[in-house]
Amino acid sequence: MVKEKEIVVSGIRSTGILHLGNYFGAIRNYIRMQEEFNCYFFVADWHSLTTHPDPKDLRGNVYRVLAENIASGLDPEKVTLYVQSDIPEIAELYLLLNMMAYKGELEKVPTFKDKVRQNPDNVNAGLLTYPVLMTADILVQRAVKVPVGKDQEQHLEMSRNFAQRFNNRYGFLFPEPFPFNYGDDLVRIMSLDGNGKMSKSENENSTLYLNDTDDAIRNKIKKAKTDSGPQEENSEKPDYINNLFTLMKLVSTPDTVQFFEEAFNKCNIRYGDMKKQLGEDMVAFIAPIREKAAAIQQDHAYLHRIMREGADKARATASQTLSEARKLMGINFY
Ligand code: ATP
Ligand code: MG
Repeated sequence: MVKEKEIVVSGIRSTGILHLGNYFGAIRNYIRMQEEFNCYFFVADWHSLTTHPDPKDLRGNVYRVLAENIASGLDPEKVTLYVQSDIPEIAELYLLLNMMAYKGELEKVPTFKDKVRQNPDNVNAGLLTYPVLMTADILVQRAVKVPVGKDQEQHLEMSRNFAQRFNNRYGFLFPEPFPFNYGDDLVRIMSLDGNGKMSKSENENSTLYLNDTDDAIRNKIKKAKTDSGPQEENSEKPDYINNLFTLMKLVSTPDTVQFFEEAFNKCNIRYGDMKKQLGEDMVAFIAPIREKAAAIQQDHAYLHRIMREGADKARATASQTLSEARKLMGINFY
């Protein structure tokens, strides 16, 4: 008997230009997983509305996220690629799961508390129930693996709780979804100024975007936070230095990384040289993605075809899940 491929789901919000954190936390895994698993990847346009409700930006951002994923190597022939709002079954499952999600646990979520602090005038119910919508995205396809960055770890723990709660109350329907990364630990790329994670919506000057010009990339890396260097041999690296090494491991050759690691350990590292090298290697990494994405983004006919085909496939499986969920819950009258 042929073993069925495991199901994978992951989404990216249509809130702006993708950056290296999105690439290394999520997309890099997508590109490898598409060869091995049954993958459902989507643009999370409903999730964007919690913080980015402006209609004039949304459509362009959806095209952009699709184009940047495809330019990075995602193959729409190998994966099901779709836009969240094309799948009404997700909204229905979200409604059902909301009956099992409690205000107290949702209010405790650290990302929710951060958003409340950042923007106290926009504490909408969508923001509070973000982990429930995310759970619906995953469970509607009955996925078991979710490639995400470190920032999503806690949300996924909640998804497992909601899955268990449903199964205990109504009967087994949902396998538990776990975060996934080909390296061991989930990735967290920090902002180049050392403050928080790189993010689509914050800290523009310290985030490396997949559409940055060659000069912008060099300049941002040049200004990245460093210090006067280690004072003792083999000392521990501060976070912001560690982040530069993480980036270097991702885009430079192992020899280059080793050279600077040794220099750090011997206290004779020159951060200016390291940044220059990292800048050039980063330009070589980003430039081809930027150019491909710019072309794909203009091709709306192509993107529409992908979106429609993806939506048809994603809806077929999602509607099966919903019909089973309704049956288990007693919402089947005819
Ligand atoms: P926004 O600020 O609008 O929320 P974002 O950059 O946080 O944008 P998301 O769309 O929320 O991006 O997340 C898409 C994927 O990228 C998720 O899997 C998330 O874990 C991952 N990700 C986002 N930022 C980073 C980062 N700095 N390091 C590693 N992974 C990241
Ligand atoms: Mg985010």
